[in-house]
Amino acid sequence: MIKETDFIFSPEQLFNRDYVLKAISDKSGVPVKDIKDFRILRKSIDARKAVKFNVRLQFITRDDKFPSLTGNFEFRNVSGANPVIIVGAGPAGYFAALECLMRGMKPVVLERGKSVEDRKHDIAKLNREHLLNPESNYAFGEGGAGTYSDGKLYTRSKKRGDITEILQILHFFGAGEEILIDSHPHIGTDKLPGIMKNIREKIMECGGEVYFNTKVINLITENNEVKGVITEDGKEFAAKNIILATGHSARDVYYFLDALKVRLEEKGFAMGIRVEHPQAQIDSIQYKRKERGEYLPAASYNLVKQIDGRGVYSFCMCPGGTIVSSSTEKNQIVVNGMSNSRRNSPYANSGIVVELRPEDYYMYSGNKTFAGLEFQKQLERMAFQNSASGLRAPAQRLEDFVKGRISANLPDSSYYPGLINSPVHFWLPDSIGLRLRAAFKEFNKQMSGFLTNEAVVVGVESRTSSPVKIIRDFESFQSPGLKGLYPCGEGAGYAGGIVSSALDGMQAVKRIQ
Ligand SMILES: Cc1cc2nc3c(=O)[nH]c(=O)nc-3n(C[C@H](O)[C@H](O)[C@H](O)COP(=O)(O)OP(=O)(O)OC[C@H]3O[C@@H](n4cnc5c(N)ncnc54)[C@H](O)[C@@H]3O)c2cc1C
Repeated sequence: MIKETDFIFSPEQLFNRDYVLKAISDKSGVPVKDIKDFRILRKSIDARKAVKFNVRLQFITRDDKFPSLTGNFEFRNVSGANPVIIVGAGPAGYFAALECLMRGMKPVVLERGKSVEDRKHDIAKLNREHLLNPESNYAFGEGGAGTYSDGKLYTRSKKRGDITEILQILHFFGAGEEILIDSHPHIGTDKLPGIMKNIREKIMECGGEVYFNTKVINLITENNEVKGVITEDGKEFAAKNIILATGHSARDVYYFLDALKVRLEEKGFAMGIRVEHPQAQIDSIQYKRKERGEYLPAASYNLVKQIDGRGVYSFCMCPGGTIVSSSTEKNQIVVNGMSNSRRNSPYANSGIVVELRPEDYYMYSGNKTFAGLEFQKQLERMAFQNSASGLRAPAQRLEDFVKGRISANLPDSSYYPGLINSPVHFWLPDSIGLRLRAAFKEFNKQMSGFLTNEAVVVGVESRTSSPVKIIRDFESFQSPGLKGLYPCGEGAGYAGGIVSSALDGMQAVKRIQ
């Protein structure tokens, strides 16, 4: 017999096997001695009052076996098939490549950055020596921006069936089974590079091609159809269909598309700062316990408030994580967050960002399409000018930021290149700074103790989503007036985050006739 039942357990009860067996027996009427095994199928935490786990358990009796949670995927040999060029080896690009293999098309992936094996040396250099390689960093390289991230796998998309497929594919390529179980799954930066390498090996084993250090600088077009791409080293790759999955940090791509008269549009996005607390402080606020103990994960939060007509919200919260430098050019400071699979750093960080609409930044450029991009660049340069040198990030204690006071000193931080004391409240544009300061006061009403000088704000969190949209036809996903060009993923403005970008990449390939 195989059965499923729902339970609510305290953390201590859930991790006590005898207790769980007895609970299953009491609820199902099956004697404990006949229950061969159980496993968790769904798990979420409810910390509104005393902390509880909501779980769905599956149990088996006698000679039964658990059905496999792993999906079945058939990746075909595509050596002799028609090529599809995929620009960018991020989640959108790599999942598009896997969809090609499932549909019998040959993916040819062109990636400006390096393989995960080589990229990790540039990441180490960035953190230890504060040296930025503009083509190999936290944004560019195999696996895209998602590789050295928290690997949170949630999305606001409601198409649960599709999301399950993405999670199953990640599991197939090496992610732990828990991503199929947790309500807020995450993989961790220590595991993601291995998964990306496994995906690459599958693409190549099936006859697909993957080229690193291969930056696409233009498209080849004829009679309103794409014919191929040109790379920085002068090579040409020919194909009738091109999946453009270059992410939102590849600003050069928007400019060459604009020159080709590909239709682009400005798009609302969000910018702000990253805030970092001691993890123990977030644990005690969220779990209402002095210490989180051995059974609870590092606590997270999700905050949102309307301030003066714009949403201010937490973004990409990383419990037990570190703040990283995700700059892609010299003379700019951009921060983001990541964590490893165990989420065991003593810090909790999150972006706190303000929703921005085109009318908030039209004044930053004569060209409406690029006004958001120009505002983004300006904020990143402002952060650099206030950082004094290299990749050190400007920072201020949180309460000082809200009260508009200079900080006497700064707390310890996870940010490797180091922080520099700066009056962030003073130089952030009012459209962002004033709203953030008001929002922190409101957040403190929802999470008492959140607004504290033990926490630090670090500037700037500017790459939350793309400020430019590459227009595509709703049905065919192709660029209007340029047959065969399929813009997709976060850079095209149709996705945000690892899962939705991966989904979008697969959806684009499904449109290819
Ligand atoms: C530090 C950090 C942490 C994050 N944490 C999370 C998280 O926990 N959960 C989550 O869901 N999201 C997270 N994100 C966001 C997530 O990584 C992105 O939403 C996602 O990677 C977007 O996927 P994409 O494939 O559309 O683009 P990208 O991942 O940006 O990939 C685009 C790829 O295209 C390549 N490329 C660009 N231009 C060219 C060119 N001209 N020629 C060839 N190649 C090119 C780039 O090098 C890159 O590899 C994080 C991002 C960062 C930076």
